[in-house]
Amino acid sequence: MRNLNSFYLKDKYQFEVIFFCVKVTAIMNIEWSDRIKNLPPYLFAEIDAKKDALLAKGVDVIDLGVGDPDIPTPIRIINALHQSSLNPDNHRYPSYAGMMSFRDEVATWYKKRFDVSLEGKKNVIALIGSKEGVAHAPLAFINPGDIALVPDPGYPVYSVATEFAGGTPYTMPLLESNGFMPDLDIIPEDVLKKTKIMFLNYPNNPTSAFATDEFFKKAIDFASRNNILICHDAAYTEVYFDEKPKSFLEYDGAIDVGIEFHSLSKTFSMTGWRLGHVAGNESAVAAIGKIKTNIDSGAFQAVQEAGIEALRNYRDELQDRINIYKKRSQLLSLGLQSIGIEVYEPKGTFYVWFKNPNGILSKDFANSLLEDAGIVMTPGTGFGEYGEGYTRASVTLNDKRLEEAVERIKKLTI
Ligand SMILES: *Cc1c(COP(=O)(O)O)cnc(C)c1O
Repeated sequence: MRNLNSFYLKDKYQFEVIFFCVKVTAIMNIEWSDRIKNLPPYLFAEIDAKKDALLAKGVDVIDLGVGDPDIPTPIRIINALHQSSLNPDNHRYPSYAGMMSFRDEVATWYKKRFDVSLEGKKNVIALIGSKEGVAHAPLAFINPGDIALVPDPGYPVYSVATEFAGGTPYTMPLLESNGFMPDLDIIPEDVLKKTKIMFLNYPNNPTSAFATDEFFKKAIDFASRNNILICHDAAYTEVYFDEKPKSFLEYDGAIDVGIEFHSLSKTFSMTGWRLGHVAGNESAVAAIGKIKTNIDSGAFQAVQEAGIEALRNYRDELQDRINIYKKRSQLLSLGLQSIGIEVYEPKGTFYVWFKNPNGILSKDFANSLLEDAGIVMTPGTGFGEYGEGYTRASVTLNDKRLEEAVERIKKLTI
């Protein structure tokens, strides 16, 4: 009797579960938030989808789209990860702000590389890649209705993250006539009153431009007069060909008005490892730390220990890598120039930024490259309206592929 009863109950319960599910699937309507509803797909996700469709058709695609190094991570860093991954202490939750040993190593690196004195504990926190820190920064400084100044063309995360935080991005055009540096004097007074932060990025993605000393000094003076925090994205300071780029924190007064985001991704070919750091103004760094404690639980400690190895011996393979990117950039620039395309001479980064042939619009040129030549390049407009008329190519493939790309472009009829 008891058995029968429990069978009956179980059966009844299952029936109800099934009934419940049917009911739910019938009425449930997943409504996306306004903040993502009208957002276009992340640029590179969209390009990836088109590329996959071509690959599925058997096309030999040359992908010069996303800036993701093809050169592997140096073996000394991989070995450090292996060793650190064997330590059970590293299998537990990491500290939120990053290991003190990693933060101190970042401070030491700043001293060695830029002659900037920082304290790991006060001025540095670890990030799960610099994209994570850049994306969370507006949450720390922007109230609804506040403005963030963003470069255009620029890394798309600056403006999207500002909007996620309820703020409004205000475009600073980067024009070739101005060396792709924004003209701070033309930003209207009423905009400045509402502005809390300004994003800058040099060496620049996508244009590959370097900032001048004069510009950085002016930006610091401008920020301090208008009470604006400078968020400098310095992902490419180690990818330079001749002239060595400076850190924004090298300039007098920078630490009073700003922070600098850095990444191990581009310097050490560690895009997949997800490790970066933000350094500079103590209070601003702490603000980002406070956001992070509520959102993530830090970077895998074994990855941080590998990051220590990366930074400690940072000069080891750097020159070899720089030489490779330099040679490739020259090869692609000269190739494009030889077919009449106007190229902005790169001094660093692994991007070649050039004017579209015959004034064709960026989206049309990108589509033609993809569909008629099997080449992925990023339309300038993917970085904002001021990217119109330009295209970005990443030199993250070998010389042979770059030569092949030029040959294919030569045959295009535009
Ligand atoms: C690649 C890149 C980043 C992101 O780097 P991660 O550390 O891998 O997140 C940030 N800013 C710019 C301008 C980049 O090009």
